[in-house]
Amino acid sequence: MNAVSSGPNLVQSPRLGFATGEEIAEQQGGLLRQHIEFLAANSPYYRQRFSELGLDARDIRTLTDLPRLPLTGKEDLARHAAKMIAVPDVDLVDLCLTSGTTGPAVALQQSRRDLERVAYNEETAFRMAGVSADDRVLLAVALDRCFMAGLAYFLGLARIGALAIRAGTALLPALAELVLKQRPTAIVGVPTLLLRLAADLEAQGVDVAALGVRRMICIGEPVRGADLKLSRLGGKLAEAWGATVFGTYASTEMATAFTDCEYGIGGHLLPDLMIVEIVDEDGLPLPPGEVGEVVATPLQVTGMPLLRFRTGDLARLHSEPCACGRQTPRLGPIVGRKAEMLKVKGVTVFPQAIHTALQDLEGLAGCCLEVRSDYEQSDLLTVVVGLPDGNGDAASIADVISARTRVRPEVRIVTPDIWREMTWRSGRRKPQLFFDYRAQKLRSSS
Ligand SMILES: [Zn+2]
Repeated sequence: MNAVSSGPNLVQSPRLGFATGEEIAEQQGGLLRQHIEFLAANSPYYRQRFSELGLDARDIRTLTDLPRLPLTGKEDLARHAAKMIAVPDVDLVDLCLTSGTTGPAVALQQSRRDLERVAYNEETAFRMAGVSADDRVLLAVALDRCFMAGLAYFLGLARIGALAIRAGTALLPALAELVLKQRPTAIVGVPTLLLRLAADLEAQGVDVAALGVRRMICIGEPVRGADLKLSRLGGKLAEAWGATVFGTYASTEMATAFTDCEYGIGGHLLPDLMIVEIVDEDGLPLPPGEVGEVVATPLQVTGMPLLRFRTGDLARLHSEPCACGRQTPRLGPIVGRKAEMLKVKGVTVFPQAIHTALQDLEGLAGCCLEVRSDYEQSDLLTVVVGLPDGNGDAASIADVISARTRVRPEVRIVTPDIWREMTWRSGRRKPQLFFDYRAQKLRSSS
């Protein structure tokens, strides 16, 4: 096999996070050069972009050259996926579909080395959360349906030598039975689902906190607030299971996941696998510590390598020292999605802020948001709140939201069962809490 298409050997530096900032920047610069050379030689899409920009791959030497490189949007990925494949078809071994939360699902294809890379990534991430060969880890995430995450977790655990219990996204009674019979010491899953699992077990008279589950590795929903402290959801989960809760941030496009270390103050970046930038609306780099869009350059990917991918997620990097000794910046919780930004009567608000405003509401089963456009170019927001028997005072709930966010939405109260029916659609990995009807309005009016 020719050396160019299969790429160089995977660089694995699990201790690099503990090196000095300079050493990290130097190694990342080297991996970036390698990545750009690989793109220029093998990716028809990026070869064309570089040529259009008059960019010579050899001009990119260090991380400070990053802003000279083109950004890649979700729409580029959707339109040009086929031209982004950078290895011969015969080298592709796995097809993943993106979640499709904010656009059509895109097929991302992985080479055998990409699988090795995600396995190494998850091994590093699990070790950061303290998982070891002694652990029995319940994977309450889908391993099929072309999802990348479940497969990556399994491969990572196999590298560690931990026992994987591949529960998948089975129904709650089946998950509960696995927990009781197989006694996992760690669980990977979506927080709201794991909270429901705890409630189901409690209803059977089980002392959930005494089951011996020590770690909950949470995916899909943030478990920390902007202050990096556990959110209400994260706190309830930790209490219910008597476990340490770890947040993660990952996406199929990034082919990379970050996990909190034991100090839980944001996900440490893995410097040999990814370069993260935070940019403003125009794609320009923001000063350290400011909230902006997460732009990811996944290093060492060969199947469908991406450059400066705009995730649409808004977050900030934290660079104050962490007690664990790693020197890498940490990515804070996602404060919102660019596509979910709402503008209600001139005030900008993200769905996450509404969820946070209501998290202390007595008896809250959950809430979700519906947004429509009105003629004033303002968004019309309805917050649907699940409360016992569908009873509650909509006006006072609107007051709470207004006091915290300066936006006063319409509030509709439903029973917890109706809320679950609305939000847990079959085949989805997490509840859908945001329903955007703004595009339909545009279509129907045109
Ligand atoms: Zn740390």
